[in-house]
Amino acid sequence: MRSRIYLDYAATAPLHPAAAQVIEDYLGASAAARANNSNANSLHSEGRQAFANLEAARKTLADILNVRPFELVFTGGATESDNSALFGVVAALRSAQNPVPHIITTSFEHDAIYKAAKQLEALGLARVSYVPPQKSGHVHAEDVAAAFTKETVLLSVMAAHNELGSLHDLQEFGNLAHEQGALFHTDAVQAFGKLALNLSDLPVDLASFSAHKIAGPKGIGLLYVRSHTPFKPFLVGGGQEGGQRSGTQNVCGAAAFAAVAEKLCASPASISQEARRLQLLRDKLYEALCTNPRVVASVPCEAGSNNYLPHIVNVCVSGIESETLILQADLAGFAVSGGSACSSHSLDPSRSLQEIGISRDLALCSLRLSLGWDTSESEIDAFLDFFNQLTDKF
Ligand code: PLP
Repeated sequence: MRSRIYLDYAATAPLHPAAAQVIEDYLGASAAARANNSNANSLHSEGRQAFANLEAARKTLADILNVRPFELVFTGGATESDNSALFGVVAALRSAQNPVPHIITTSFEHDAIYKAAKQLEALGLARVSYVPPQKSGHVHAEDVAAAFTKETVLLSVMAAHNELGSLHDLQEFGNLAHEQGALFHTDAVQAFGKLALNLSDLPVDLASFSAHKIAGPKGIGLLYVRSHTPFKPFLVGGGQEGGQRSGTQNVCGAAAFAAVAEKLCASPASISQEARRLQLLRDKLYEALCTNPRVVASVPCEAGSNNYLPHIVNVCVSGIESETLILQADLAGFAVSGGSACSSHSLDPSRSLQEIGISRDLALCSLRLSLGWDTSESEIDAFLDFFNQLTDKF
């Protein structure tokens, strides 16, 4: 067994060998590597090679998502994709008739959406409704339906929650938005690779993705913008990415993203086979943790439940704060999280946990375990042994 056991895939998944190989092929000092990773907008041979690599990566990802390549915009990660989606749609749809458009999102979105929405409000560019989730970690369609106004231009609901694993029905929310004449965006960062996403068959206008959550490199993401969707670029400059996102493209990152996606998400069958494997591990972990009297499940992701991602378990451990849990686990050789990684440098309890009705005190004791492509059953067993010994000590 490894000397360190990594159970924090929802924060970032360790780089897959397929992505590592691409990075070696692109970032080395050889002439081939220099051409591979040249500026994809240059006219010389190296530039044309880089352009071909970039477009091949786009085609691979487009095939996996079942969209047209020109509908995929490479970004610097999902934070940028999420911000761009909100700002880009609002900027495109502000008009004399609708000078301050209305957006609907949820109160437990990732900060990349939540704080972008707050920023739009602070700048006076949009009005926002934040629909709260239920205790289960799901937002009800009726609650979203009640929030629409004549000015609503966009609904943004995440496909899968990064702390709780709860899934939302994209068909249902997309239809709802479209019936009301609004666009639908989804943050699909955590769902990608765990659920087969056929975007052409779904009423989704915009969607965000990030490579490092599926074992690709950091700093590369995607924004899907369905053809003819009103969208004004968030980043302007050199006009790359069909004018949708300026900035010299990260060719190496795009190629590595495509390589790992091709390995791990090649077909709906391979995605569901891996999801089943992970779900069995998750069920074992969840059930064993729940037998510990100190554990309060944050959401009920019981065996067989398919309302949740197959690889995330979130519990609160009464009387042991997240920081202690993380540091004790770290000393024992386990990498775990207390909530979302982005907020883990602060001691604030998770907004999402509080939004589903968990008290502040209990939310301060949250533990998120997330599994991935090279998690094994023996690693789960080792963690459970450690955990039970830890709770006996405190
Ligand atoms: N959205 C969700 C649901 C996430 O989990 C994350 C990462 O934590 C992001 C957006 C931001 O992604 P990135 O790290 O690529 O900016």
